[in-house]
Amino acid sequence: MPIVVQKFGGTSVADANRILNAARRAIAAKRAGNQVVVVVSARGDKTDELIELANSITDTPPAREMDMLLSTGEQESVALLAMAVQKLGEPAISLTGYQIGILTDSTYTKARIKKISTDRMKKALDAGQIVIAAGFQGIDDDFNITTLGRGGSDTTATALAAVLEADVCQILTDVDGIYTTDPRIVKEARKLERISYDELLELTSLGGGKLHSRSVEFAKKYNVHLAVVSSFEDKPGTLIAPEGESESSMVTGLAIVKNEARVSLVDIPDRPGVMSLIFSKMADRKIPIDMVVQDVGSGGLAEVSFTVPEGDLAATLTAAEEAAQELGAGKVLHGTNLSKVSAVGAGMRTHTGVAAQMFKTLADAGVNIGMITTSEIKISVQVRREQVSDALQSIHRAFALEKPTPVSLEVGHAARSTGDAATKKATRAELERDVVARLSSMEDIVVSEVDLDTNQARITIRQLPDQVGIAALLFGAVAEGGIMVDMIVQNVGHDGRTNLSFTIPSADVNQCLLLVREVLEPWPSAELTHDGHIAKLSVKGIGLRTHTGVGQKMFQALAEAEVNVQIINTSEIQISAVVAAASGPAAHKALMKVFGLSK
Ligand code: ASP
Ligand code: MG
Repeated sequence: MPIVVQKFGGTSVADANRILNAARRAIAAKRAGNQVVVVVSARGDKTDELIELANSITDTPPAREMDMLLSTGEQESVALLAMAVQKLGEPAISLTGYQIGILTDSTYTKARIKKISTDRMKKALDAGQIVIAAGFQGIDDDFNITTLGRGGSDTTATALAAVLEADVCQILTDVDGIYTTDPRIVKEARKLERISYDELLELTSLGGGKLHSRSVEFAKKYNVHLAVVSSFEDKPGTLIAPEGESESSMVTGLAIVKNEARVSLVDIPDRPGVMSLIFSKMADRKIPIDMVVQDVGSGGLAEVSFTVPEGDLAATLTAAEEAAQELGAGKVLHGTNLSKVSAVGAGMRTHTGVAAQMFKTLADAGVNIGMITTSEIKISVQVRREQVSDALQSIHRAFALEKPTPVSLEVGHAARSTGDAATKKATRAELERDVVARLSSMEDIVVSEVDLDTNQARITIRQLPDQVGIAALLFGAVAEGGIMVDMIVQNVGHDGRTNLSFTIPSADVNQCLLLVREVLEPWPSAELTHDGHIAKLSVKGIGLRTHTGVGQKMFQALAEAEVNVQIINTSEIQISAVVAAASGPAAHKALMKVFGLSK
């Protein structure tokens, strides 16, 4: 029988009515022919209240007692929900973390799962009971109660869905799905039927508020289909699965980060080690960096820009000043009142012209583009904050995101598709061990992959007028030539001029130069250069933003290998660097080593 895991967040079980409502949802899933495991969080703000209560007794609540205390929140919820299910006529059993067989280490307040034994759950399910499992908690070897860290119920739910090989893990919450963009800004925003794991990970500010990136990555690894659905209304939500609504949809969703500031270091030496020093200054202060842009240097000088939450501007400036001082060179500049607009779509992997259309749309709306960064499935631009709503609305309209895509895939209990090696090979015991091993390193592993691409060329234009519409013209011409653009990097302009670099397949370089030269005719002062063979390195993973140490490690390893970095750009889930073709293999090796990925 298919297994469905349902996870109810705190607001969805806040009072008796909502608990009864949750019970109805669980029963409906069972009566639809599934075995049902429900994972529940503490009611409403219970966890916060308990923390506050503890803090009013002592400034230093002992961690063991804290877990003993916090676990009661979930214990209360499961008991009440089991009563509700029984009252509504179905057999149910509530189980604590211990009783569901979640064994953890003894790191109170952020314990790691060591083992999950599904026997008891299986027995209960086979006996026709709805299993109501307490999220967020486990037990250590000495029977001490532990908790998994804030928001840990998502972890419990995804882990159970993986070990039980559930057909779907439904996250029932106070939003009814994932939208093409923020409906408060764009009222035509549409609820997506489906979105791919990768798209969602790149759109963290869209869906991520509700779903932990870690849980999404974990679900991806084990091919667990996640469904975000409303706990209040019984209607389809959004399915997060290997593929989105359509592999060919060029843009699936738009996200913004509203309050950002930019710090630039200009006229810094263009040599190995400089980026490493700058990143270590940022990492020391744990500054969450968002976009990073470095374009190709000239005359032995380079420049790099970062965006950070506006509240971190002062600390970032201090860090940048320190770096400049230690380098004995460079000037620090900054900008405020900035926002980032990102377009994400799996179809960008295979379609030309997405960037061109996005830039044209912004030009038509009179929006000037500051910095640009990209990943394979995402384009981010920096705009002035007062233009961010216009920018978002115009892009949404230009890509007709309000229109449902023609193909309608089955939502909900989608048949599990192929899955990856991890799930295929496994017997149940192997799978349990594998899931647990993966879980225990879930918070440690930030970087999961380092890719090397040696088939690309770089085109650079310096002294380009910093004016609305030029990027649109350029990328329009390149797209018309049928050339796939990969990275696009534009640093912030100075004195009305800007520099722009992008990468394309090496084979297309001559044709591309012709097209670009034609566009540049009206601006004879623009300087066009290229490098027919570069190496692009991408460090991929989750939480790169919050783990400032990743950039530091990456650039330190490159510096130690004496590799000079020509271009940098970033997205939510990767940092990419362009280096000379000859340095590619050595740089790749150094990065694999530093991130513990060498075989
Ligand atoms: N109750 C815990 C918290 O509020 C766990 C959860 O809700 O996922 O963090
Ligand atoms: Mg909660």
